[in-house]
Amino acid sequence: MPEGDTVWQAARRLHGALAGKVLTRSDFRVPRYATADLTGRTVLDVIPRGKHLLTRIEGGLTLHSHLRMEGSWKVYAHHQRWTGGPTHQIRAILGTTDRTAVGYRLPVLELLRTTDEHRAVGHLGPDLLGPDWDPDRALANLLADPARPLGEALLDQRNLAGIGNVYKSELCFLLGATPWLPVGALPTDRAAQLPALAKKLLETNRDRPIRSTTGRRGQDLFVYGRAPRPCLRCHTPVRAADQGDGSRERPTYWCPNCQKGPAPHTAPPHRTPRRTTG
Ligand SMILES: [Zn+2]
Repeated sequence: MPEGDTVWQAARRLHGALAGKVLTRSDFRVPRYATADLTGRTVLDVIPRGKHLLTRIEGGLTLHSHLRMEGSWKVYAHHQRWTGGPTHQIRAILGTTDRTAVGYRLPVLELLRTTDEHRAVGHLGPDLLGPDWDPDRALANLLADPARPLGEALLDQRNLAGIGNVYKSELCFLLGATPWLPVGALPTDRAAQLPALAKKLLETNRDRPIRSTTGRRGQDLFVYGRAPRPCLRCHTPVRAADQGDGSRERPTYWCPNCQKGPAPHTAPPHRTPRRTTG
């Protein structure tokens, strides 16, 4: 699931393959850009902004893409077979003399003037992996609506950029608060730790192939995806429920023992035999 760390890795991969190279192939398979042709232009830069990717191209153009849940950019050498999905899922192809970048299932793909990038990413709060990171501003943004559930505030990219559903669940666990706790009810010391903790999780993982918040091999996440298996810390069965603003519900995981605060009334999960934890 693409979160800030995944997008950061994608940007690095694309930058390594394309930056400084002249495009010899440009193929957009979305109606709006069916006739757009970027061949002959040099790729200047590929940068992540939160969960957005900005590919800057000579001539003042930026290709803006967002992976959301399903999208990905793959890079292939010329002899390699493309393995990112069926051909009809390809949205964009950018090629140089030795590499081809293929964008699969990209829900957001737009060509902007570089001077208009703010239209795509100007709404974002401080970027956890970006040069604009500002922990005080991120915290102030999060606390600006104190009644808002913590989980929703963390996912709102206008507050801070880069957290997706996995880090949301894991951060709430590490803060000892359920995702439904009003953000203003977080104890002051916990709230103060939040920005640094979020940044540490993303930074630690941006160079790793497998995301881990626990530092334990084979048990990489405290609660995300674990229901109804036992909490790694206290062995209480982890719970799962949807959380969202009504328009978009996303699965959320929490430990009812380690995390304090309101939670939906879901049936207790079927208890599974306790696993040996190392
Ligand atoms: Zn627990």
